[in-house]
Amino acid sequence: MQAVAQWHDPNPRAFSKARRGGTTLLFGGLTAMHDALIEAALTALGYRPQALPCPDRSALQCGKEFGNRGQCNPTYFTVGNLIKHLIHLRDVEGLSREQIVDDYLFVTAGACGPCRFGMYVTEYRKALRDAGFEGFRVLVFENAGRLQQGEADTGLGLTPGFFIALLKAAMLGDVVNAMGYRIRPYEVVTGSTDAALTECRTLLCAALRERRSVRRALRQCRRRLAGVPVNRLQPKPKVSIVGEFWAMTTEGEGNYQLQRFLEAEGAECEVQAVVSWVLYSVWEAAYDTRERMLLRNEQPTGRRRFEFAPLRKMLLLRLGRIVLRRCFYRYARHIGLSGYHLPDMDELARIGHDYYANELRGGEGHMEVAKLIQGVTQQKVHLTLSVKPFGCMPSSGVSDGVQSLVIARYPEANFLAVETTGDGAVNVHSRVQMALFRARRKAEDEYRAALQTTGIDDGRATARLAARRRCRQATHYPPHRVAGTAANLLYELARQPWPRR
Ligand code: SF4
Repeated sequence: MQAVAQWHDPNPRAFSKARRGGTTLLFGGLTAMHDALIEAALTALGYRPQALPCPDRSALQCGKEFGNRGQCNPTYFTVGNLIKHLIHLRDVEGLSREQIVDDYLFVTAGACGPCRFGMYVTEYRKALRDAGFEGFRVLVFENAGRLQQGEADTGLGLTPGFFIALLKAAMLGDVVNAMGYRIRPYEVVTGSTDAALTECRTLLCAALRERRSVRRALRQCRRRLAGVPVNRLQPKPKVSIVGEFWAMTTEGEGNYQLQRFLEAEGAECEVQAVVSWVLYSVWEAAYDTRERMLLRNEQPTGRRRFEFAPLRKMLLLRLGRIVLRRCFYRYARHIGLSGYHLPDMDELARIGHDYYANELRGGEGHMEVAKLIQGVTQQKVHLTLSVKPFGCMPSSGVSDGVQSLVIARYPEANFLAVETTGDGAVNVHSRVQMALFRARRKAEDEYRAALQTTGIDDGRATARLAARRRCRQATHYPPHRVAGTAANLLYELARQPWPRR
């Protein structure tokens, strides 16, 4: 009988410590701020990292050319972005294929799961082979923080210091971005926020690279950001961007530059922190461990048995969650990000459970449903925009299916799910504009109601603001009472003592 040669994936991953200094670690996929900070943090650990540029349309085309059919949109963008960069190294910078394969590798996140995220690494290798880079190494972090890597002499040292450096950079990126989204819509001089953010990035990258105090760098950032002139007495719709992790995080063509488009249309964006995703992963691990602990074992009595190992794991996860939150809030305090709350994962699970089972995984799980309900019931935003990549399995179920039920139960919700295919910008932008029209009306009504309730008119509000230096600063953010920032500022100004003439 003729022997059948089975296909097998060679999966090259060798990366020795000796080659650490001579190998460039390519990575990317978060915001420009996060990528720059991660690059600085990894440089401090002795690596030679290089963040890939934000994926654009040509990256999508490259991904479609070399990828399999029927992938989800983020796969095409991210795989194509890597291939595009390697082609640039070969065709523009003149490196040979051997040099590229020997001196570069790609590090990315991955996970075994119900959606296409679990197949990314295979997709990378297929596309790399077809593009002429067979043998190029792709190292994959699993969602849970482990690395799929068997070699003993690994150049990528997965020490606690390595993970702490990554988390630190992610949290710093989150707090700086959050400040930017709070300030930019209200800046008086166009471009002044971005100029300040560029300086913040330089300061923080230098602190990370040279292992200096990030606390001091954050305080310098705070002073720089506080100097941006703003006028927050403008009612603007607040828009929460939720949806698939990559699609809602990227700042490029992957979501048609949604954040910048919304700001250009006069909205204030509320974006999700990367550390929220880490907290969700911690919650997932704790939830699954707890469920497993309660499984009946095979003893005839069928009694539940509690063991020490899972209890210890639960304790460690709880500790990890507390430390993460504390670190984040410390960074937030130093940069002046007041009143910012990371999502409480247990609360989100409880809210979302009636609509989307907590056991269902893939994509954002129950989080998107819970965030929409929270946004409506707690008056957090005027519009919730869900970014749904074309071909995404979990997003289709949530945004098209489950959210319809949520909207039926919460008719006051202003929700829009947009599908990002990479070539439908005009369609998506016009649908967003329609939803923004309703959101803008809500923000204006809310502001008028605040004027009536407080009994102060526009002129007196401006005078009161002029007299309060702290409230005028860009780093000041009024406490939450309703969704709109301008209305919240009015309520704050009205609460403060005002000398009678
Ligand atoms: S969540 Fe959707 S878009 Fe993201 S990797 Fe999974 S299938 Fe693709």
